[in-house]
Amino acid sequence: MILIKTKTILFLILFIAFNLNVWAQSGNCAAKGATEYMKNLYPDIFPNQFLTEYTSPPLINKTLSVSVYIVLDRDSNENVSHSYIESSINGLNKAFEPVGLSFRICSYNTIQNYHYDTFDFSKNEDREMYDMYRTPNTINLYYSIEYEQGTFFGSSFPGDFKSDCIFLKKTAPPQTIIHQFGHLFGLVHTSQANDELVTRALPLANCHKAGDRLCDTEADPFTNYADPTEIVTECKDKSNLKDSNGDFYLPPTDNYMSLYPPPCTVLFTPKQYDIIYYIYKTYKSYLW
Ligand SMILES: [Zn+2]
Repeated sequence: MILIKTKTILFLILFIAFNLNVWAQSGNCAAKGATEYMKNLYPDIFPNQFLTEYTSPPLINKTLSVSVYIVLDRDSNENVSHSYIESSINGLNKAFEPVGLSFRICSYNTIQNYHYDTFDFSKNEDREMYDMYRTPNTINLYYSIEYEQGTFFGSSFPGDFKSDCIFLKKTAPPQTIIHQFGHLFGLVHTSQANDELVTRALPLANCHKAGDRLCDTEADPFTNYADPTEIVTECKDKSNLKDSNGDFYLPPTDNYMSLYPPPCTVLFTPKQYDIIYYIYKTYKSYLW
């Protein structure tokens, strides 16, 4: 058990180092070069993790404060209802309940600069907004109608300036906030590196060093740049793609950290909760 924890911590140190380097540069989810970077960075951190029994971490038992910032449009309309935001937080709380984390809205604020209703990641306008409007020691949640550039969703990774903020579209489906809070607590996409083998059997299994490095999320063949929504029907993968062993992929279309259609996503796995727990304990315990 102690050995497993030590390896977990080592994994997370490298995990953070990776995120600092890659996402600090790009400021968004689909950082180009991330796949190559991960291949080079990750050694065999969990050589036997797929053989070990999962031991769930203790509950965190903490409620964190969320400060909501809604960017007003030209006519000073919010264009997102407080009841929608509150129901999103309720869904978020259900998703994080197994690790003992919950979230409550401590304030609603408006940003009276419609320029940020369609802001541009590539001009670091997310950073501008964060510098001008935020509440320290809380998670700052920004709602805009559209991002002019960058990914559909914002993201946050430990160590980045975004470690306590999340950018969301006002039209985002309710699962998106869960995905983004997953990033805030250190999770990467299940398709983070698309060289993962389906098998979990030794000696071929490579789930500890490919994909998202977690062996309890199925191998996910899609890169960040593909559009998985095109090959998913009724939340099932219809691509019939095989890995290099000839095994058919059964990708985790139900995982919050996948890039499949958000309505298909309903769960985190035990090892994802493990990451959330350690990121919280190591980097986020300053949050109120
Ligand atoms: Zn993402």
